[in-house]
Amino acid sequence: AKRNGRNRYEDFRIEMDAAARKRRVVEMDLRDAITCNQLRLYYQPITDARHDEVMGYEALMRWHHPENGLIMPVDFIPIAEETGLIHSLGSFALHEACREATTWKGNQTVAVNLSPIQFKNSGLVSVVESALEASGLDPSRLEVEITESVLLDNTLGNISTLRKLKSLGVRIALDDFGTGYSSLSYLRSFPFDKIKIDRSFINDMQDSREALAIIRAITGMSRSLDIQTTAEGVETDEQFRRLKEEGCTLFQGYFFGRPQPSESRLIGFSPL
Ligand code: C2E
Ligand code: CA
Ligand code: CA
Ligand code: CA
Repeated sequence: AKRNGRNRYEDFRIEMDAAARKRRVVEMDLRDAITCNQLRLYYQPITDARHDEVMGYEALMRWHHPENGLIMPVDFIPIAEETGLIHSLGSFALHEACREATTWKGNQTVAVNLSPIQFKNSGLVSVVESALEASGLDPSRLEVEITESVLLDNTLGNISTLRKLKSLGVRIALDDFGTGYSSLSYLRSFPFDKIKIDRSFINDMQDSREALAIIRAITGMSRSLDIQTTAEGVETDEQFRRLKEEGCTLFQGYFFGRPQPSESRLIGFSPL
């Protein structure tokens, strides 16, 4: 059908062009973001309910755009991955997180997200090494979070990279656990220090027997494998209570604190 003299294909092409243009603009701005210090890390607490204390923080990237304000990762990480800029962003995150963690009063850990694209760069291990050396952070205080897609392609190469990271003393967490199609088998491929139960299961646990059963299976299994588990996206006291009953010990979510800049990190409210 013709609309305004255009057919559906032309409509589609115009939309595609607009999307491609937008992507190019973001890409150009993102190059400036790196050189002009517009990237920031916000830190979200991870609470250990057994000792009633914040045991660490996850570093989450934010972009303070001079005209468009605060931009969230969903709007720039995928573009950074497509364009290869993720290597610079990732190196910034590792250096900045290690540096800031050394200014904290406690010896909390800092968790940094690694994109699967960063594993395509043979220099990843040396970036981590130099972030540790430059900051003087004890390697045991750095945790890297990867998703199972890292174990999907170039499996042997990536596992060897993970082993090298681990031999530096860095801890390795498997993020968004349970969302992949064969999650359990990944636990055999590498000795992870921690798994993070994906937020979607916590979100659904009150209404879905399946979600609860999966949480139960994950916590039971990680107990027997002696792997720590973090429940992600805990928003209510009710979820917290139920998860404790299931044997969860580590918690992250708005109920415990939102991501904040390092300076304001200690102001956050703690429900415990
Ligand atoms: P993620 O690694 O799964 O991080 C958790 C996300 O859940 C964060 O979103 C966090 O703000 C959000 N969150 C935490 N607690 C709650 C809660 O109680 N309720 C809800 N609704 N959300 C909660 P954010 O900061 O927007 O980051 C989104 C994703 O972007 C991250 O997911 C991660 O995959 C990616 N990302 C963020 N920073 C970096 C980075 O420095 N490098 C890389 N490669 N990826 C990053
Ligand atoms: Ca994460
Ligand atoms: Ca996650
Ligand atoms: Ca995620």
